[in-house]
Amino acid sequence: MSRRRQIYEGKAKILYEGPEPGTIIQYFKDDATAFNAEKKGTINGKGVINNRISEFVFTRLSHIGIPTHFIRRLNMREQLVRQVEIIPIEVVVRNVAAGSICKRLGLTEGDQLPHTLIEYCYKEDSLGDPLIAEEHIACFGWANNEEMQDIAAMAIRVNDFLCGMFAGIGIRLIDFKLEFGRIYDGDYSRVILADEISPDGCRLWDIETGEKLDKDRFRRDLGGEEEAYQEVARRLGVLQSEDGSPGEVFDLSAHRGKLRGSKSKS
Ligand code: UDP
Repeated sequence: MSRRRQIYEGKAKILYEGPEPGTIIQYFKDDATAFNAEKKGTINGKGVINNRISEFVFTRLSHIGIPTHFIRRLNMREQLVRQVEIIPIEVVVRNVAAGSICKRLGLTEGDQLPHTLIEYCYKEDSLGDPLIAEEHIACFGWANNEEMQDIAAMAIRVNDFLCGMFAGIGIRLIDFKLEFGRIYDGDYSRVILADEISPDGCRLWDIETGEKLDKDRFRRDLGGEEEAYQEVARRLGVLQSEDGSPGEVFDLSAHRGKLRGSKSKS
């Protein structure tokens, strides 16, 4: 493959200049980080799986009219996306109490929230992505009012769609993080969904057992993270090769006990 210009290396992805102006190649790494990169590790095969899962989810979201940056998957670890001006806000959607909100507000993990909650964090690693109010976003001009209305409306639609999609494969969507970017068309700009949607940025619990099928397995040293990501991909049906034959076959039976055995009590 010809040499490409690297634009940015993040914690889980590398961005390269795309083949046409206005495009970018997202390369999915196996690297995993947690707690603002204080904890570092590798989840074997994660990049391949997240590339597939994100392709699957973004394609389906586009089918319900959510504009996204996704153009097409290029290979096992890369996808072509539209170049956007990233809005420096992490949009967290929560259905069930878990993670940082439990510590912050003294909630019990697993409690259904009275209604779906959208939180905003300022995307700045050096500050640990602090929680912010919409007033901060307006005050510092990170996004305007109209953009925030679009973002909130899209976040709710994405949540409704994903809740149903995951429920259909026996998974409860606890919470997840979205990122949005701006694209320009002459004098106009609009906001589209960017980044990725994968078990790296979602909390996914098995509906029957409560088993965690996401990055919390890595964050909390539960073990079985590779198998958990594979399980999500398998249930979504994305571990198939292009011709429909089972491309990568994982024998999960050997890991079932391990996955269940290391189930968190939190
Ligand atoms: N999240 C993420 N990137 C971040 C912070 C959070 O993808 O930098 C996701 C995380 O995977 C979870 C949701 O957003 O699904 C809510 O995370 P939380 O605020 O509870 O933070 P955490 O407990 O992960 O520190």
